[in-house]
Parts: sequence; structure tokens; C-alpha cells
Amino acid sequence: MAPTGSSASPAELKTRIQTLVDSYPVVVFSKSYCPYCQKVKELFRALDIDIHVEELDLLEGGSDMQNILQEMTGQKTVPSVFVNKAHLGGCDKTVQAHEDGLLTKLLEGGEMYDYDLIVIGGGSGGLAASKEAAALGRKVLMFDYVVPTPMGTAWGLGGTCVNVGCIPKKLMHQAAILGQSLTDSRKFGWEFDEKVHHNWGKMKEAIQNYIGSLNWGYRVALRDKKVTYNNSYAEFVEPHKIKATNKRGKVTYHTGEKFIIATGERPRYLNIPGDKDCCITSDDLFSLSYCPGKTLVVGASYVALECAGFLASLGLDVTVMVRSILLRGFDQEMAEKVGAHMENHGVKFLKKFVPTKIEQLEAGTPGRIKVIAQSTQSTEVIEGEYNTVLIAVGRDACTKYIGLDKVGVLLNEKNGKISVDDQERTNIPYIYAIGDVIDGKLQLTPVAIHAGKLLARRLYGGATLKCDYVNVCTTVFTPLEYGCCGLSEENAIALYGEEHIEVYHSMFWPLEWTITARDKNGCYAKVICVKLDDYRVVGFHVLGPNAGEITQGFGAAMKCGITKYQLDNVIGIHPTCAEVFTTMNITKRSGMDITKKGGC
Ligand code: FAD
Ligand code: NAP
Repeated sequence: MAPTGSSASPAELKTRIQTLVDSYPVVVFSKSYCPYCQKVKELFRALDIDIHVEELDLLEGGSDMQNILQEMTGQKTVPSVFVNKAHLGGCDKTVQAHEDGLLTKLLEGGEMYDYDLIVIGGGSGGLAASKEAAALGRKVLMFDYVVPTPMGTAWGLGGTCVNVGCIPKKLMHQAAILGQSLTDSRKFGWEFDEKVHHNWGKMKEAIQNYIGSLNWGYRVALRDKKVTYNNSYAEFVEPHKIKATNKRGKVTYHTGEKFIIATGERPRYLNIPGDKDCCITSDDLFSLSYCPGKTLVVGASYVALECAGFLASLGLDVTVMVRSILLRGFDQEMAEKVGAHMENHGVKFLKKFVPTKIEQLEAGTPGRIKVIAQSTQSTEVIEGEYNTVLIAVGRDACTKYIGLDKVGVLLNEKNGKISVDDQERTNIPYIYAIGDVIDGKLQLTPVAIHAGKLLARRLYGGATLKCDYVNVCTTVFTPLEYGCCGLSEENAIALYGEEHIEVYHSMFWPLEWTITARDKNGCYAKVICVKLDDYRVVGFHVLGPNAGEITQGFGAAMKCGITKYQLDNVIGIHPTCAEVFTTMNITKRSGMDITKKGGC
């Protein structure tokens, strides 16, 4: 019988293996009767390459060595081939490496990896970087895996934006706008039954079907670009090496020369009793199979206000619980106006309260939920009953469980985000990071895409252009949209001093709203200019319909350094809302009346 057990300790066996790997150019851990081992040995013989063979079935401690090999390489089977100290793999990988010319490269002393680039995360940033690198001729592997929410919601390829972010959000915003248009249309002569009813299930299904088509489109695009897509959870286990676990628990290992981390963020919970059991987040909302009913939204930033806005416009009873201010980080005058418009249109605000306990009163679709909340300013405690509680209190970077400690990537300890330089490089030379996961940058889809593309071009296309994170336009898709680019008034004052800036502003009333007598002077626009710099526009803000569409063009102008003088010399398009920016002549300092008598 062949010897199996060993008197040597696992540490001694590991040292023995390592010594062999370090001592010979090619080491094959084999079994004398294995046909695949035979094939590999013959391949090396045919190539006239000297190899050192360890026949594990004939060796004392062979089976223990095999276990140690699995620990070291992730591969249990034989043959297990090492070339120039690097683990190459089994029979198939060795034959493939020979056919690809990689074996020769390895034998000549070059490092051998399975892929030129491994991208972790198939969202906005990861997809863009993977496709660009592959188009530049690189061998790319992209992992994307969605860990289900506590409610069990999961989704397909494409990341946050496509599945649980921008896309379903904007489509639900559109559903809300259509509801308003129905009301408005009566004033324009449309006559229909007074009973108008919104069907949540139909809307959800249509949106989810569209998302399904996008998921499919991404798969096809990856295949066309020859990016290898692996639907597994990826984590670093050692330098240049990833352990990937698929949803059936199957583990594989993959090596890469370079890595891009694009794992994004997931919604944060409150960590109070009942939050994970009874509440949903935006990750659940867009595919919720039932209408959420009377809803409490906790949080007051983008996600909270956008969701509260469309839910209320769909006819639901919606309350927003605000811990401090609305839209932290945005121009606060604009944020207040966003809130005021929402309040005028039926959204209730519970300001300066935070939930402390959530209890399910009754299960159902939707059920009944009790929320206990505490004032942030006094000892007052309040209670409320809702059908749904949507937690939107920010998002945590997905960096905790991806083995960054194994490779030494540094994080900002306070928020768990990855620190990168102006070229998206982490502190580890072969690891880069892009998108929501990086520290101190804007978390927007086009930012992640742009950074991903440019990074791939710098890595593989000889390009030098860096991602410019300044003057990026953004829009909060609340029922009345708020678009902005550049500095808030507060930040402009802090940066330049109040006396050195001039703010021009105006209210406006969309012509379309005059007939319906809706929200007279409810829209607002302002530009912030630096006097000492030729009145260059450093802040652009608009609250009105289609603010996103308006802001995009002016954002381009700001990239080109537009001044107030140039803005005044633009001839407007009449009658539009955007033309207000070509006719603004009242400074905020003057205190003059900025209301408009008629529609624009
Ligand atoms: P993501 O798109 O989040 O992709 C990361 C991917 O990596 C995910 O699929 C994740 O499951 C996967 N992943 C994570 N860890 C692993 C791992 N270990 N292994 C394998 N895969 C992993 N931005 C806008 O510009 N406009 C908007 O209107 C807008 N609306 C939004 C609305 C909501 C409700 C939310 C939540 C966000 C919104 N955003 C919007 C922000 C936008 O979605 C993000 O900025 C963008 O998706 C970031 O892209 P990313 O590639 O960094 O990450
Ligand atoms: P966010 O900007 O981090 O805001 C978190 C909100 O939750 C804040 O209002 C915060 O209040 C509140 N909050 C935090 N902890 C709380 C607690 N314990 N109790 C009660 N309230 C609490 O998060 P977000 O809205 O999830 O947005 C995340 C990112 O997604 C954004 O930065 C944005 O880039 C992106 N996004 C973009 C769009 C778009 O482009 N239209 C839309 C959605 C999201 P305080 O102010 O008191 O801290």
C-alpha cells in the first residue's frame, strides 16, 4: 500500500513544499497513476524542460501535503504545477498556458497571472472599466455579485444605478409627473372620468421588465467585448489572488496582474430594535410587490427626498423624519425650497426626530408598523403607525469583507472608504478603486463611468487624462427637480468671502403652469459669480421642471469657464424655463423683488 500519513507537522510540510517550489524552476505535484499528471509530465518532456516531480501517492505524508497544497493554492487536485515559484494550476491550465505562450513567458522569469485585470464589482464603474480595458486588448475578468437584502431582495448585473438607483427611481419619478400631468390636463380641455387610480403592481412590473432587459444587455456587451463575467462574490486572499464564491457556495481562485475595486455601497440601517426585520430600504422599494401604503421615510438626503417625493405624488400618505437638515452638503436655500414645495404638495415632515424603536403590529403586504421616535432637541418621544418604513440614512462602502487587510489596502477608518490619489491609485501599486467606494468624491453614476474609462485608458492605452471631479452637475429628482453645478452659496462665501461674490437670482413660473394656476413663482434660479475673476460663474442652481435637462448644458458652459457677462450675451430660447439664466439682472444683495408676473 502507498504511504499516506506523515509524522511531520503541517508547518513542516508547508516549509517542505515551499522549499521545493523555491528550489526548482518547475515542480509538478503528481500521482503516479493519474492520466492528467502523465499528460503534464509528457508536455514538459516534449518541450525539453526539466521538471521536479513529487509523486504524492508514493510519498510519506503525501495526502497531508495535498491538503497543505490546497490551503496554499486553493487547488486540491493533481497535477498541481508551479513554474518559477508561481502556482500555474492543473492540467488544463498548464496546457492552456503553453498554447497561449504564457508558459514560455513564465519560464523566462515573467510573472504569470490568469488575467491582466480583475475588476471587482459590475456596476457603473466596474462595467465601464472592464469594457474599456478589454477593448484595449487586455484579458479582463469582472466579478459581480449581489448580497440579498435582509428582506431577501436581489437583482441582476449592472449595479446600483440600473437595478436599485437612478433608473427605477427616475421611472417612478416619471410616473409621479404623469399623475400631475393628468390633473393639469383637465385645465387644457381633457375630459375623462374623475376617478383616477394608480396601479403600483403594473408600474413595478413595467419598470422591472425594462431593468431585466438592461441586465441582459450588459451580459451581451461583456460577451461581445470578451470580458469574462463571473457572478461570484470576490475577496482578496493574498497579493494578486482572488477567492470567488458563487451562490451555490462553489469556490474558485483567480490571479490578476492589476485590480480595480468598484464594489459600491449598500444602504445603512439604523441599528435600533426592529429596523432590519420591519423596514425596507431603497434596495427593496423599487421591486416591492405591493403598494407600500402609508409610508415613513427616515433620512433627508437625495434618496430619502426623491423616494418620499414620488411616493407622495403617486397618492400615498408620506412622512419624512429628518434628523437635522434637508440635503446636507447642498445649497441650503435651495434645499429649503425643495422641502417647502414637497410640503405644499402633501409630504409631511417630522423635523429633528430620530427613530429609536420599530415594531411590527401586523404582518401583511403591507402590514402595520409602529415607530417610536425621540426628539433630537428635547426629551419628547412620539409614536406613529405606518404601513411601510423606508430607511434612507446613507450608504456604507462595500469594503469590509473583500480581504483588503490581506493585501494592505488602506481605508479611511471613519467611513470605510478607500483612499486613492488623483489617478484612482490605492496605496498598493497594483490595486485601483473607482466609483462610490472611494473616499471624498461624488457618488454619481456618470462619475463612476468616466473615472473607470479614463483609468483603463491610462493603464492600457497610454493616455494621461485624469478624471476631473470638479464642477460635476447633479440633480435631485424630487417632484420639483433641483439641479446644480459647482459651489453652494455657503461654500462660495467660505471660499471667496461674501464681499467677493455676487449672486444673481430670480423666481420663475413655467408657462405650462399658468393655465393650471399652479405654484405661481414656485420655481427659482440663481448663479453665483466671483467678482474678482471677471464674474466667473462658480455656482449654478435651478429648482424647476426638467432641472436635470437644464443643468447639463450649463454644466458644459461652466467647464469652459463661463462668466456672467457671457451668460447675459446668450440669446435665450422662448418660452422656456432655462431662458431665465440669460435674463437674470437682480442681485441678491439688492433685496429687489424677484417674482415674475407672468409665465416664462
Ligand atoms: P455600484 O453601481 O453600486 O456597483 C457595485 C457592484 O459591485 C454591485 O453590483 C455590487 O453588488 C457588486 N459587489 C460588491 N461587492 C462585491 C464583491 N465582493 N464581489 C463581487 N461583486 C461585488 N446617481 C446618479 O448619477 N443619478 C441618479 O439619479 C442616482 N440615483 C440614485 C438613486 C438611488 C436610490 C441610489 C441608491 C443611488 C443613486 N445614484 C444616482 C448613485 C449611483 O447609483 C451610484 O453612484 C453608482 O451606481 C455607483 O457606481 P459603482 O460602480 O461605484 O457601484
Ligand atoms: P447621504 O447623502 O449620506 O444622506 C444621509 C441622510 O440620512 C442624511 O439626511 C442624514 O442626516 C440622515 N441620517 C444619517 N444617519 C441617520 C440616523 N441615524 N437617523 C436619522 N437620519 C440619519 O445618503 P443618501 O441619500 O443615501 O445618498 C447617498 C449617495 O447616493 C449620495 O451622496 C448621492 O451621490 C447618491 N445619489 C444620487 C442621486 C442623484 O443623483 N439624483 C440620488 C440618490 C443618491 P444628517 O444630515 O443629519 O446627517
